[in-house]
Amino acid sequence: MSNTTESILVGSLQKFSIEDGPGIRTTIFFKGCPLNCKWCHNPELIDPRQQLIQSPNNCIGCGYCIKVCPNDAVTMDPEEGIVIDRAKCDVCLKCADECYAEALRPVAKPMTIDEILSIVEQDKGFYENTDGGITVSGGEILMHAKFVSKLIDEARKRGMNVCLDTCGFGDSQALMELALKENVTDILYDMKAIDDKVHKEYTGVSNKLIIDNLKMLAADARTLDKLIMRMPLIKRVNDSDDIIKRTGEFYKEIGVKRVNLLPYHSLGVSKKRNVDGFEQEKFEQPTEERLTEIENYFKELDLKVEVLGRA
Ligand code: SF4
Ligand code: SF4
Repeated sequence: MSNTTESILVGSLQKFSIEDGPGIRTTIFFKGCPLNCKWCHNPELIDPRQQLIQSPNNCIGCGYCIKVCPNDAVTMDPEEGIVIDRAKCDVCLKCADECYAEALRPVAKPMTIDEILSIVEQDKGFYENTDGGITVSGGEILMHAKFVSKLIDEARKRGMNVCLDTCGFGDSQALMELALKENVTDILYDMKAIDDKVHKEYTGVSNKLIIDNLKMLAADARTLDKLIMRMPLIKRVNDSDDIIKRTGEFYKEIGVKRVNLLPYHSLGVSKKRNVDGFEQEKFEQPTEERLTEIENYFKELDLKVEVLGRA
């Protein structure tokens, strides 16, 4: 048993994941990310702090939330239903406590390592039979490197392997320490756009640190083969011939061998509206024909390519 009582905000524990690394896995989504991708499919996990999220379809109109809110932040609009004034809300969560319909909920739950692993361990048999395990994801795990490090060590004691899922934007030494752990078998490493101008425009940060950290992992024989590059594919953002060619050439240069392509989907649009009231820009995924062209291009470079979540 882990002796730490420290807890962390966990957005969700997703069991039976089959697209977050090899085999059957449980994916742990931590809250907090230094990037702000315009297409983020988990926008409720960007802010490292607790937040209140709405599920308007669950609302039964009982009005308890309006009565209990100490800040008068909740009103009922005849057309829109329950409206939260985010400027007045201090996330006390009193409304969520009263909302039995779960139309108002906290985004995340504080959990200790023991609490997380006791749930994850329930599926240990599936991991063993499929070369699966745990995937630590986010948000961004490097924002919580110490906690994640302890969790990985405890998972090792309990006989479970771990896959890291990272955007690579974080402390290099912390990343290397996590990557070198014996029971870390795979690293899902995001490559959102090799072109720095595009990267900055759509994620809010430069890709320089991300590329430097990737080169560091690729240059070390102990971590190179753990790398699986993950690239979201968004029409007219990062699917141009130029970006795809430069990405492929870069992969060959640094020696990575496995690539996952993730065509855009719009799951984040309603989540963003429900968590902060803002509208997320809508994008499109490349056509089926274009996806196949990109897949074939990477295959011609002798890379092992998988397209995940194809529509
Ligand atoms: S407490 Fe929940 S179900 Fe009742 S009005 Fe508020 S949001 Fe709707
Ligand atoms: S979480 Fe926000 S909206 Fe809900 S009761 Fe507290 S202040 Fe009011």
